[in-house]
Amino acid sequence: MAVKEEIVAFADEMRAWRRDIHAHPETAFEENRTSDIVAEKLESFGIDVHRGLAKTGVVGTLAVGNSNRAIGLRADLDALDIHEENTFDHVSTNPGKMHACGHDGHTAMLLGAAKYLSETRRFNGTVQFIFQPAEENEAGGRVMCEDGLFELFPVEAVYGMHNQPGLPLGKFGVRVGPSMASADMFDIQISGKGSHAAHPHQGADPIVTGAEIVTALQRVVSRSANPIEAAVISVTQFHAGTNTNVIPETANIKGTCRALSRSVQDMIEARMEQVAKGIAAAHGLTADFTYDRRYPVLVNTQDETLKAIKAAQSVVGEENVATDHPPTMGSEDFAWMLLERPGCYIRVGNGEGEDGGCVVHNPLYDFNDDAAVYGASYWAELVEQELSLG
Ligand SMILES: [Zn+2]
Ligand SMILES: [Zn+2]
Repeated sequence: MAVKEEIVAFADEMRAWRRDIHAHPETAFEENRTSDIVAEKLESFGIDVHRGLAKTGVVGTLAVGNSNRAIGLRADLDALDIHEENTFDHVSTNPGKMHACGHDGHTAMLLGAAKYLSETRRFNGTVQFIFQPAEENEAGGRVMCEDGLFELFPVEAVYGMHNQPGLPLGKFGVRVGPSMASADMFDIQISGKGSHAAHPHQGADPIVTGAEIVTALQRVVSRSANPIEAAVISVTQFHAGTNTNVIPETANIKGTCRALSRSVQDMIEARMEQVAKGIAAAHGLTADFTYDRRYPVLVNTQDETLKAIKAAQSVVGEENVATDHPPTMGSEDFAWMLLERPGCYIRVGNGEGEDGGCVVHNPLYDFNDDAAVYGASYWAELVEQELSLG
């Protein structure tokens, strides 16, 4: 049990890569500089590089020995539209953009693993190093799959990793099964009849009807979903009217839904439509209902999760790998890759409190460079165990 000595030896180099990427954040499908850096580094390690999947995606292929087995390791390249409030030297030089989710660290860790594996070559098979754009909001992982990722670079399993603020350094967290929620968006357009506000009986009020729909949607979660299963419906926008003495013609309601299973997701969509259209019809109005499925549920498959646990335990010891890491209602586009291949998404501790406890998507967040040796060692160990020399 230990982190890889060779990786510890170049931890300063990984830190420098990470901080350079942090200082130059780029968002969805515009990760050109980051993509250039990743491609250059992989080539300098003697790894074959393919570019252009999902515009800025990079895939490095390292084949060692004579086995035809292959696995994929995935990191994300993109930053967020957040204005950074940190004051350290590697602060964002791109105003309004920031690596507030630690994807700079994910990229550096996977590059570190690529460097180590290309130098030590203690495995038999092929590793596909997958660097994807646009994890935040724009589903770059889905686009890479649509662009033929796994047809061009076949793998038997694919693995992902995310840093976890609040989880101590040197610890990992993971679970078998649904681990992150589906993320869907809905849009309800209510059409009524405008009138003078003093004469509501001459119109059909979309605001009162909309308010009733918002209230009734809460009952889809509390009365239609099995209480044992997780479901979220959050109305986040309600737009109607421009005047105090006019009942408007229309109202628009939008929001997001989350679930940890496909069946709950299906139920939510069907019940929401019934509720919105039924309540509108009851009051003589109409409701158009649009439901957009954005990110699927992220499901870790059993065999691959046990392999991930074994590799993490080899790096930090059994007591430092939580195998019952709680699921969250956040979402993650690595879920698209897990629809195509079995695999596992693991959390690596970013530290507590001052050491890196600041939550992701916060303007004061920073990836904890001390976590990189653990993450990179996990990647390396996973490859050496899964594609073992025999
Ligand atoms: Zn994020
Ligand atoms: Zn993230």
